[in-house]
Amino acid sequence: MGRILFFLGLALVAWMIFKSWQRKQLDEKPSDKPKQKSSLGRKSQEEIMPCQHCGAYSPMSEGVLMQGRFYCGMEHAKAAGEKVH
Ligand SMILES: [Zn+2]
Repeated sequence: MGRILFFLGLALVAWMIFKSWQRKQLDEKPSDKPKQKSSLGRKSQEEIMPCQHCGAYSPMSEGVLMQGRFYCGMEHAKAAGEKVH
């Protein structure tokens, strides 16, 4: 009788380990998809523009925009005849 209870307990423990492993597998699968999605759509918003004076390509945050014309720096905006104060 004692041996049967021992094997019954062993089977129960094995079943519980299997169930918790199965739940872990199911939980991990759906959480992977939103993580991949959130990594997209950042940094790609910055536009690279050519300088109207020298033609060098610079990110918009690094250059200057004057009346719709982009320059890689203040020096080239001045050199191109823009009114810079
Ligand atoms: Zn330039």
